[in-house]
Amino acid sequence: MSNKSIGLDDRLYQYLISASLREPEILRQLREETASLPKAHMQISPEQGQFMALLVKLAGVRKVLEVGVFTGYSSLSVALALPAEGRITACDIDEGWTSMARRYWEKAEVADKIDLRLAPAVDTLAGLLADNQADRYDFAFIDADKENYDAYYEKTLQLLRPGGLLLIDNVLWEGRVADDAENGTDTVAIRALNRKIHDDSRVDISLVPVADGITLALKR
Ligand code: CA
Repeated sequence: MSNKSIGLDDRLYQYLISASLREPEILRQLREETASLPKAHMQISPEQGQFMALLVKLAGVRKVLEVGVFTGYSSLSVALALPAEGRITACDIDEGWTSMARRYWEKAEVADKIDLRLAPAVDTLAGLLADNQADRYDFAFIDADKENYDAYYEKTLQLLRPGGLLLIDNVLWEGRVADDAENGTDTVAIRALNRKIHDDSRVDISLVPVADGITLALKR
């Protein structure tokens, strides 16, 4: 499962949660409602949401790009950590999932911070670049279809300002990236992007084994 941290047994994971999770009530409600959906595993883990919120505060982030909204746990975590003038451009193609996200954004009174773009994210990102948004974003989170990860990475990197931070989700892919016998399309795409980023002189990086593995890439 990718909605809890991998590599920890259940007892230690429960300890981590009990010793450190400070999940706002609104996020707990969203997490529990999402857990009843068939694709619930696509939701980020609560400790990951808290980690992202901390990074947003640490870096004084104001302008955020999200690729892959699902039911809104990550965008809501980030929105709650942003200052009043903070804004998120959120990309997704699914009307159903994002309608749940919208409901929670409104309930949490952060809906005015979030600009949801319902279209293929590659098109939305290309549109932002055409609209002179290159070098404008402080923070970005990529967590969508893995086949397009490389395209999302390249376009998002252009949209980030130098010093902007990019987070890429699921880079350990439940361990499949390290298994030579695994050659599914998604695994191959993630493995290729991991290899590319390792050698990419445009960014400073750290792959942190939080949740399903997150690459932090700081644009130079
Ligand atoms: Ca994910």
